[in-house]
Amino acid sequence: MKPHFKIGTEVPESGIYWCTVCMTPDRFEKGRPFPDCRNLCGKCHWELVEKDQK
Ligand SMILES: [Zn+2]
Repeated sequence: MKPHFKIGTEVPESGIYWCTVCMTPDRFEKGRPFPDCRNLCGKCHWELVEKDQK
């Protein structure tokens, strides 16, 4: 099972994440807080889909 991250916690790695509720993907930068889902799902978490290539 892949790790899930709460809204407001720090993004551990830059890459593509998706909302565990609506599955909408978005790209986040390392060190920023995870935002709320653009669809305002509420209790969603973010799941890492694809890390940036290094
Ligand atoms: Zn969502």
